[in-house]
Amino acid sequence: MGTIIYNSPIFGPVHSRRLGISLGINLMPADGKMCSFDCIYCECGFNKDHRPTLPRPTREEVARKLEEKLQEMAAAGQLPDVLTFAGNGEPTCHPHFAEIIDDSIRLRNRYCPKAKVCVLSNSTMIHRLEVHDALMRVDDNILKLDTVDPQYINQVDRPCGVYDVQTIIERMKAFHGHIIIQTMFMQGDGVDNTGEEYVSPWLEAVKEIKPQQVMVYTIDRDTPAQGLEKATREQLDSIRDRVIEAGIPCTASY
Ligand code: SF4
Repeated sequence: MGTIIYNSPIFGPVHSRRLGISLGINLMPADGKMCSFDCIYCECGFNKDHRPTLPRPTREEVARKLEEKLQEMAAAGQLPDVLTFAGNGEPTCHPHFAEIIDDSIRLRNRYCPKAKVCVLSNSTMIHRLEVHDALMRVDDNILKLDTVDPQYINQVDRPCGVYDVQTIIERMKAFHGHIIIQTMFMQGDGVDNTGEEYVSPWLEAVKEIKPQQVMVYTIDRDTPAQGLEKATREQLDSIRDRVIEAGIPCTASY
């Protein structure tokens, strides 16, 4: 069973397939995983297996540790390409997410103005006005939409609360293009979102949302559920090409 529990509140820098040299900001506790989804492919493992005992980092702690790390990286002459909000769970669940975004933008401007501020989110909190507005202020607002099929979502993403994909799509439209959609394609263990019955309605939703970009990718590390397999390069390339044909930039990571 593969599990990565990231340090908190700062981890890395790590080299990301999609983002370059990425300094991670993890707003979840350092000793476990806490997420509003419980994806069967999550590299942090299942929620039930990693219940944290520590609290989330405070706003002040995140700012202090981020500043210390950026000072250290500046002294070493290796500044990040991106400050990435990710880690052991859903960053937008932090009660001070919006204020932390503002602190991070301020520190980015001071220490590494060329770096982007990027948030990887599962979209479950975008109904909160302060989360929506904070995501409008970051450079890359990367939101998950693995499919539009409710049954697949319940089997694979496994939301912990109420989740209505049509409502999520409407809220994604409200970013008016300031959104990058990320979609995990995979197969095995009775699930497969690479077939036409999944790709076609997903593509229609993407066209409605009109994102600035789409990122399609597949499993890269061990998964907590057994029997999952990567989508093939050919499948990902084919999906990517269809998105591009629709006039939307798209990248595929294998
Ligand atoms: S949304 Fe991300 S962090 Fe949460 S369970 Fe899924 S893969 Fe893991």
